[in-house]
Amino acid sequence: MKGITESLWPIHYKPLPDELLSCWLVRLAHGHGLKVQTFCNLIFGNQRQIWNRDMDRLAPTWLIDELSQRTATPPETTWNTTLHSYEGLLYRKFKASGALQWILALKVYHRKREGYGLQYCPTCLAEDSIPYYRKRWRIAFYTVCTKHHTMMLDRCPQCAAGVAFHRLDIANGDAIEAGSLAFCHECGFDLREASAVEPLSYDSDATALLLNACNVFDLDQDCDYKWDLGRYSVLHQLSMILTSKYRHVSLRNFVLDQLGCRDIPLTAGRVSFEMRSIEERHHLLQLAMWLMVLPDVRLEQAWRTGTVRYNVLLKDFSEPPDWYSFVTAQFKNWRRRFQK
Ligand SMILES: [Zn+2]
Ligand SMILES: [Zn+2]
Repeated sequence: MKGITESLWPIHYKPLPDELLSCWLVRLAHGHGLKVQTFCNLIFGNQRQIWNRDMDRLAPTWLIDELSQRTATPPETTWNTTLHSYEGLLYRKFKASGALQWILALKVYHRKREGYGLQYCPTCLAEDSIPYYRKRWRIAFYTVCTKHHTMMLDRCPQCAAGVAFHRLDIANGDAIEAGSLAFCHECGFDLREASAVEPLSYDSDATALLLNACNVFDLDQDCDYKWDLGRYSVLHQLSMILTSKYRHVSLRNFVLDQLGCRDIPLTAGRVSFEMRSIEERHHLLQLAMWLMVLPDVRLEQAWRTGTVRYNVLLKDFSEPPDWYSFVTAQFKNWRRRFQK
């Protein structure tokens, strides 16, 4: 295609607000009337494959540079479309492999995705003039849409496939026919037509706090509560503890009793929070957020019933924030449990 190897591409869309790098790249390919794979081979060469990995997490520098130059986008803006930009807020230090705190796992196998690592809000997609996928939809605690206050979805309601919009033109055979990115790549269902579901709420304060934690990532929403890496890390720690058992008693049962609600079946074994389905994550987050509403009081209650120990609260927790160290330090002396 004429012009595609020139310094500025004929089509040089800029990323939409909070758009994911992968989504932007697919829009650029389709904008040129090309399939994603054809476009990438043409621009980057056959040797430089990017779709066999979680590109939004592992975007190489050359890709950032190339996209910035060819679309006349400031490099910081391009960089900001990657999940690397959450470093220092959702996780302490970026790493290329293994679980990254709060970043949903895509489980990429060749060019396929076996996980459910990209969520979507059907109403947001339906309201978009150009349907696109937001970076914040990759966050594991982002289970409720900050705009519509309805549940996010993590798969196609018709065929249960995870979202993989970069594969749409494979099924359709033509980049133009692929059209909107709002269709399921597997069965063609229009994801904008998925029903919007009210989020399950066990406690209104906990639900409000969860929404508040999500609002931080939506520039259109206000956030009146201070969230930082420390607080997100404590939330993560508690979410993990809620899935572990200690001598047949568990913190999860304690919280469920306090809230008077029932447990749901959880995927067994050592599963990271970032690999769980949206139902499991939303359930666990409701419980964790109930603790986060009054961490000192509620953790003390739990500790007094023997459902959580000092060691467990700090297990594998590197550099907890001072306030959490202070709260948990009270539980060092187990004898105190029996004192008034
Ligand atoms: Zn929405
Ligand atoms: Zn489907």
